Amino acid sequence: RAKDYGTNGYRFYTAEMNDAVIQKLVLEEWMNKALEQDEFVLYFQPQVDIFDHRLNGMEALLRWNHPRLGVISPGDFIPLAEETGLIIPIGKWVLRTACMQNKAWQLEGFPPLKMAVNISPVQFYQDDFVQVVLEALQESGLEPQYLELEITEGIAMYQLDQVVDKLNTLRELGVHISIDDFGTGFSSLNYLKKFPIDKLKIAQQFVRDVTDDPDDAAIVQAIMAMAQSLNLNVIAEGVETEDQLSFLLDVKCREIQGYIYSKPVPADEFYDLLKRNMVA
Ligand code: C2E
Ligand code: MG
Ligand code: MG
Ligand code: MG
Repeated sequence: RAKDYGTNGYRFYTAEMNDAVIQKLVLEEWMNKALEQDEFVLYFQPQVDIFDHRLNGMEALLRWNHPRLGVISPGDFIPLAEETGLIIPIGKWVLRTACMQNKAWQLEGFPPLKMAVNISPVQFYQDDFVQVVLEALQESGLEPQYLELEITEGIAMYQLDQVVDKLNTLRELGVHISIDDFGTGFSSLNYLKKFPIDKLKIAQQFVRDVTDDPDDAAIVQAIMAMAQSLNLNVIAEGVETEDQLSFLLDVKCREIQGYIYSKPVPADEFYDLLKRNMVA
């Protein structure tokens, strides 16, 4: 905000600061309209069982289809959406749309799959978050076991008791919980015994060089061992190569997500993927 740069009523701007501030304001204003104007869209990326080559589920990934700028990646607008609070209505839209889409595919006759949805900490900390999830399930008619919420370790840093309460409530409803980008946050692992979670997502940064960098290989193996003792499922993210895939097979990491199988695709393309999965 402009006023953050002010001192004693004066506002000092360098040219760069001014640019950055204006860019932010413009982006914020556009983002405000984006929801009304239906510019957000969900892409879906398959999550695949590499032991028996089956589709296990999909992750919904947000895109902003700007009329002039084209498709904008979440990394370019989610931080500002979080800062301004716009992530709250956007996140609601994502949950609702992901649940509706998943239910729609089920109604088409495809075998039911789990839909993973990314949840911002800002969204999760809202008092009515559980209610928002419930509404998305009710409006869509999706059974809770076909919804998975991806949270990040950072959520364990504040209001731990309330966070645990919320997660327990969601879990009791039947919703699944996974930890996204596992191992990249700065939290202690203490939350692992407090959180009622189902799955760890091995961050792409460990997968990337897993076949060349012994440290990454050791980290992935350690995550596998920990998940096994804690009775958690694991999925590796960002798998692009055959070498990565065979490493993951070797360490018995059963589920993967990555370009090697498919990039995130729009709903109509995912539909084709579902059709191929049925006949495979
Ligand atoms: P994430 O949840 O960890 O999602 C994985 C990211 O890795 C996605 O980027 C996906 O497109 C990308 N990816 C998947 N497979 C590969 C691969 O094999 N190679 C490479 N290089 N990349 C791969 P995307 O879609 O740009 O999303 C970035 C981040 O934005 C997500 O990371 C997530 O944290 C956030 N995000 C996306 N959608 C939402 C949303 O609806 N709500 C919230 N709060 N955050 C979201
Ligand atoms: Mg994710
Ligand atoms: Mg991730
Ligand atoms: Mg992420």
